[in-house]
Amino acid sequence: MSTLGHYMIDKHGRRMRKLRISLLDACNLRCFYCMPEHPAFKPQKDWASAKDLMHITRNLVGLGIEEVRLTGGEPLMRRDFEEIVCELSTLPVKKLGLTTNALLLAPYLPLLQHTKLQHINISLDSLDAENFIRITRRDVFGAVMDAILTAKAQGFTVKVNTVMMKGVNDHELSAFVEWSATHDIPVRFLEVMNIGVMESQFRKRFLPASDMMAILGTDYQLSALSNMPDSTARNFSVSNGAKIGFITSESNPFCTGCSRLRLTPKGQIRPCLFMEEGIDLKPLAPADYPAALAAIIAMKPIGRILHQPQPMYQIGG
Ligand code: SAM
Ligand code: SF4
Repeated sequence: MSTLGHYMIDKHGRRMRKLRISLLDACNLRCFYCMPEHPAFKPQKDWASAKDLMHITRNLVGLGIEEVRLTGGEPLMRRDFEEIVCELSTLPVKKLGLTTNALLLAPYLPLLQHTKLQHINISLDSLDAENFIRITRRDVFGAVMDAILTAKAQGFTVKVNTVMMKGVNDHELSAFVEWSATHDIPVRFLEVMNIGVMESQFRKRFLPASDMMAILGTDYQLSALSNMPDSTARNFSVSNGAKIGFITSESNPFCTGCSRLRLTPKGQIRPCLFMEEGIDLKPLAPADYPAALAAIIAMKPIGRILHQPQPMYQIGG
């Protein structure tokens, strides 16, 4: 650990080493569990500029952040996405990742080949074009699937994230396991979170990972894989050759191992997905960062906060 790493350790011994940057709240899909059908997005002038993001991230990396992931909203909708990725690629990070719905991904792949951004997590909640429309309210399944397979074929480390919901896509669990084996792409099943727009229908839709495992257990053997202590997923290899994971944000939150800080589109650093409190890093000089980080890390909860009315697309999932 670097001598500066102590700025990143909280009183529970958790070391903050991952930064999740939400580039904007806008999106080109309307996944019903994430946002309303007619959301009001923040104006572009509110977003931290590419220059601000670089300044902030450079300072945080200097203090111990090792992994950076870009998210949103839909991060590929930022017109300066190329500039942001190229700039961030000059930083000494171990991993630079992207979480995207992949709709705009294909044209970016040749550029990304030459950057540090090699880990791409893609949201795909259905393998059926009709069900995909019901979930995302957009008829773009083919473009998303093509982009996933192209990214994989071009050598990127691709993972698929699937939010599993009762009565929505739980009948597709086995199909995803077969798809994972066929394409050699890990699929992580996310428990839907009781957050933002989901609060009103959470009880109806929530499917705990234990139920998903029981359903899959009738047809497959699941063998646990070893995990990093701060991994958010419990990963398994499956008897058909698939690699799957479960992200148990609701039934078994990973707060005690959490190593993550969040940056909002406005450049505010937050200690937790479930907290709206934060500090605007844009105006701070490098010398102010240790104190700001100490304040943020001291606010980080050790257990799951139950209520977060702010929707996922505004915080950055
Ligand atoms: N638009 C990009 C995408 O969909 O990958 C990045 C942002 S999206 C908010 C990030 C992740 O949050 C996606 O995998 C999405 O499925 C997940 N997400 C959004 N709302 C959620 C909820 N209520 N429960 C669980 N996951 C959610
Ligand atoms: Fe957009 Fe991602 Fe939210 Fe779907 S989950 S609406 S793709 S931000």
